[in-house]
Amino acid sequence: MELVAAAKSRTPAEIQMAIEAGVKIIGENYVQEAQAAFRVIGNRAGWHFIGHLQKNKAKKAIEIFDMIETVDSYSLAQELDRRCQSKSKVMPILIEINSGRESQKFGVLPEETEIFIRKIASFKGIQVQGLMTMGPLSGNPEEARPYFKETRQTFEFIKNLDISNVEMKYLSMGMTNSFQVAIEEGANIVRIGTLIFGPR
Ligand SMILES: *Cc1c(COP(=O)(O)O)cnc(C)c1O
Repeated sequence: MELVAAAKSRTPAEIQMAIEAGVKIIGENYVQEAQAAFRVIGNRAGWHFIGHLQKNKAKKAIEIFDMIETVDSYSLAQELDRRCQSKSKVMPILIEINSGRESQKFGVLPEETEIFIRKIASFKGIQVQGLMTMGPLSGNPEEARPYFKETRQTFEFIKNLDISNVEMKYLSMGMTNSFQVAIEEGANIVRIGTLIFGPR
């Protein structure tokens, strides 16, 4: 199980305290905020990008992050691939699944995941290592369960396809209020903000 401390709106000093308390991976939603924190903390933590990545931020993102959890479009995958290849890097990525099928949210629909991954699997600058989902936000964690369950099923389905250069290792699901349900449903990365840092 890996814990990602979701650090949006936290200061570098707060992030530093979390690291001193044992946090190993920082999750950032915004490249600019991450740059400020990275300048202070650098490689004393691992860095996961967990927000919506705009293509024009891909170049900066690949300098900071060890994993992009939220690849949600073919064009973003292409841009990350291009930028990584030019630096001779291979970026581990997760595919963001829009498990709630919410029109205002980013992500790939569960039923489109296989085709999406097959289209990007041969890219040399990125490597698909699993799936990430948010699910619809709700006060009741039980309401998240069906979305986590479907994402887990999609994860297992893709894993069983055994696609070349695809390593289905990580399933990132669950936040402060839903992480217990997410773990029951098979998450091996949880992204926790409020429970670590306090209310935003
Ligand atoms: C903010 C955020 C989290 C953590 O949310 P909390 O409810 O504060 O634990 C997890 N994942 C993503 C993508 C986030 O933006």
